Amino acid sequence: MGKIVFYLSLIFICISFFSSLGLAKKRYVTIGTGGVTGVYYPTGGAISKMINKKRKIYNIRASVESTGGSVYNINMVISGDLEFGIAQSDRQYQAYKGLAEWKKTGPQADLRSICSLHPEIITLVASVESKIKTLPDLKNKRINIGNPGSGHLGNALDILLATKLRPDVDFKAEQLKAAEAPKMLQDNRIDAFFYTVGHPNGAIKEATSGKRKVLFVALSPVDRLIQAFPYYVKANIPVKHYPMASNKSPVSSVGVVTTFVTSKKVDADVVYAITKELFDNLDEFKKLHPAFSRLTRKGMLKGLTAPLHEGAKKYYKEAGLI
Ligand code: GLU
Repeated sequence: MGKIVFYLSLIFICISFFSSLGLAKKRYVTIGTGGVTGVYYPTGGAISKMINKKRKIYNIRASVESTGGSVYNINMVISGDLEFGIAQSDRQYQAYKGLAEWKKTGPQADLRSICSLHPEIITLVASVESKIKTLPDLKNKRINIGNPGSGHLGNALDILLATKLRPDVDFKAEQLKAAEAPKMLQDNRIDAFFYTVGHPNGAIKEATSGKRKVLFVALSPVDRLIQAFPYYVKANIPVKHYPMASNKSPVSSVGVVTTFVTSKKVDADVVYAITKELFDNLDEFKKLHPAFSRLTRKGMLKGLTAPLHEGAKKYYKEAGLI
């Protein structure tokens, strides 16, 4: 009997010891991203890759889920179905303030930011044959404005509103996922599509490199758009990445920034570990996708609306970033 009590106590002591180190309990975390041909999906992959490499230290196993995009990711993070999500900065702002898709549900007070990532540009791609050269030319055309749950659906609606074009009154609105739009454009089943995304990316490469000639449509006047929607900044689409598109010089547009979000309820040590891995190894991370080329540690603390998660804050304080 004494021996059993002794061994049981020993097991208990060992469990307590390893738990205190954070090593006993394996944590599984999932990052909500976007369509597989966008930049969110490889971004989630890059973050998971870095954290999984150190699984012996942190005992965290990260995985990635392809999703409908920003709005879906924020909602899943809030409900606790996903631990992390990637979302446009304008969507983070709206969710935290209870605007746009969150008007009914109200401010998402549990939303927490970790950092910002690459810039995203509202990209309007049209077939040359459709003769869409400016925004008003979208009238009476078949346009993919984006799937519900995506970040870009709201951006497309903003731009169309500013152009005074009403979905399904002044043009035919499709709500397909971004990953399906390039093929639809090439098959002449739509005339144009909106996608808010970092560059370069697989979807726009696919859209521009088929048989049907396509072009990027400038969003203008840019100043008026920025005045109407203060969360946008001026940006140019780097057409050099898409040599088969008809445009030969950068196309003016507006953009936002990608952000990495979580919930207040996610453990601080998990968020700390992921933030630390990302920031301590930023040079390595930047090599994982060309859209990351201009990331800087300081720049990655800009464009955030929701409060910093306490785990991220702890790291930034240690690193002297805040
Ligand atoms: N910005 C898009 C969205 O929020 C996703 C872009 C991407 O997957 O790179 O839905």
